[in-house]
Amino acid sequence: MPQATALKPDQTWQRTTQLEALKDADVDVLVIGGGASGVGVLLDALSRGLSAALVDRQDFMAGTSSRSTKLIHGGVRYLEQAFKGLDYGKYELVKEALAERKRMLNMAPHLAWPLTLITPAKSLIGLPYYRFGLGLYDLLSGSERLGKSRIESKIELKRACPSLDMKPLKGGVSYMDGQFDDARFGIAMVRSALEQGGLAVNHTRVDDLIIENGKVRGAHCTDLLGQTRLTIKAKAVINCTGPWTDHLRTMADPDAKPMMTVSSGIHLLLNKNLLPEGRGILIPETDDGRVLFMLPWLGKTLVGTTDDPAELHDHPRASQDEVDYLIKHINEWLIDPIALADVSATFSGLRPLVSNPEGGSTSNLSRDHLIRDDNGLTTLTGGKWTTWRRMAEDCMDTVVKSANLKAGPCKTQTLRLPGANGDEAEARLALKTLPEDIATYLWQAYGDRAHLVMQQGSSKRLVEGAPYIEAELSWALNYEGACKPEDVLNRRMRVGMLDEKVSQQIRDRLETVLKAA
Ligand SMILES: Cc1cc2nc3c(=O)[nH]c(=O)nc-3n(C[C@H](O)[C@H](O)[C@H](O)COP(=O)(O)OP(=O)(O)OC[C@H]3O[C@@H](n4cnc5c(N)ncnc54)[C@H](O)[C@@H]3O)c2cc1C
Repeated sequence: MPQATALKPDQTWQRTTQLEALKDADVDVLVIGGGASGVGVLLDALSRGLSAALVDRQDFMAGTSSRSTKLIHGGVRYLEQAFKGLDYGKYELVKEALAERKRMLNMAPHLAWPLTLITPAKSLIGLPYYRFGLGLYDLLSGSERLGKSRIESKIELKRACPSLDMKPLKGGVSYMDGQFDDARFGIAMVRSALEQGGLAVNHTRVDDLIIENGKVRGAHCTDLLGQTRLTIKAKAVINCTGPWTDHLRTMADPDAKPMMTVSSGIHLLLNKNLLPEGRGILIPETDDGRVLFMLPWLGKTLVGTTDDPAELHDHPRASQDEVDYLIKHINEWLIDPIALADVSATFSGLRPLVSNPEGGSTSNLSRDHLIRDDNGLTTLTGGKWTTWRRMAEDCMDTVVKSANLKAGPCKTQTLRLPGANGDEAEARLALKTLPEDIATYLWQAYGDRAHLVMQQGSSKRLVEGAPYIEAELSWALNYEGACKPEDVLNRRMRVGMLDEKVSQQIRDRLETVLKAA
């Protein structure tokens, strides 16, 4: 078993130390894939007292997990489907996700927060219909309720989104869900795992699986930055590769039948502030039957999403057609339309969906998770970000039995992530010395570790008018496992996904820091 020393909060995250410990390692659990599902399993295994390691071919969270709509939700739409189709399974799914929603908000309140959303209604019948549905959503939340849904007047609606075309609207219904910074939440999960003695390396690909007596017993990997080979043995190997699930399954069983479909979902970030009160808008139906969101997110307006059949791609990008689709459909609801010039960034994510054997539209496929075994390779796939903890718990319950592991119970229910598990006072005091926009930004990104970030260098702005500071570059590289410019810009600082122009300006400075390192 590799001897990993649990990191202390102020200790650097040395990728080389992690790699060294993983070379010829023998662990209880090896997780392949460092998105929400994989890091969830890593945390779950550690909480049960098992030794556990994780590898990801790209950066942690570089797949679908940094490309979501950023909602922590039970799924209002699934509730509607549950009632329309008298589907008890879907009802249970919503209830379970609502319980997980509250847990995520408690884990890292700086990275996950409650959000009010308003659904505008075009007909008078629409108002009581939405009110009833969202009232049920409140009811299902039970003691985990974040706030009460209610009917909003046209005046309230106009205040929340002054650009809305009010003429066809009769009012709206507001309700509460959660919102989060998906990539930073995920990176905090990885750091938490390292602080519990787990091992995790990014940019390390599983090339093939070790198979002994017909059973998967580990993996051969390549560190893509140093080109060294690793042989990691494990009592249980878990495939959490999201859209790439079938690739790994065929390594375990060349005859494994493909079970995944992917669809692409894109988002736009707007420079225009469409939501001055910080409340989101849920557009209940486009003319092709989709739900769209306009959400406040890290100082921008986030618009999404689409759902189109797609090809597997390591770096999916929003196509012009997808961007045009979103602009067209959002503009149908606005009096003050948005234009391409208002878009500061776009991103695209691949939904890992369990295949529909009957074929047909991908938006009808199940979002529930699936656990299956192929010659000892356990696959965990599907589900959603919100339910990562529950998915991991289900998966590890199965694996503990099938691999006969000596493990305690899952203890992730009350986990607090780095940034939310220390003493706030020191960070709050340090932030008082900074301009308000920088202090607010640093708190939201780093929570009670903001002062440790500030200690890494200067608090000078990297770009005039934006809150990013120089010290963050060194923090991302030395304390949060970033290796490449994209790791820093897209998944530690998020600027790459918020504003491509500002990101480009920071990239030049970052490349100088990387060369000097
Ligand atoms: C457009 C969109 C919007 C969404 N919005 C929401 C939302 O608002 N709320 C919500 O709860 N959920 C949302 N979801 C769902 C959620 O984002 C996903 O369910 C979740 O991120 C899936 O995580 P994952 O870990 O399974 O996959 P991924 O995040 O894709 O992780 C898989 C990882 O496996 C790695 N990998 C692949 N092959 C190998 C290999 N050979 N060796 C090593 N590593 C490998 C990849 O590099 C990748 O990092 C959304 C999804 C999409 C697409």
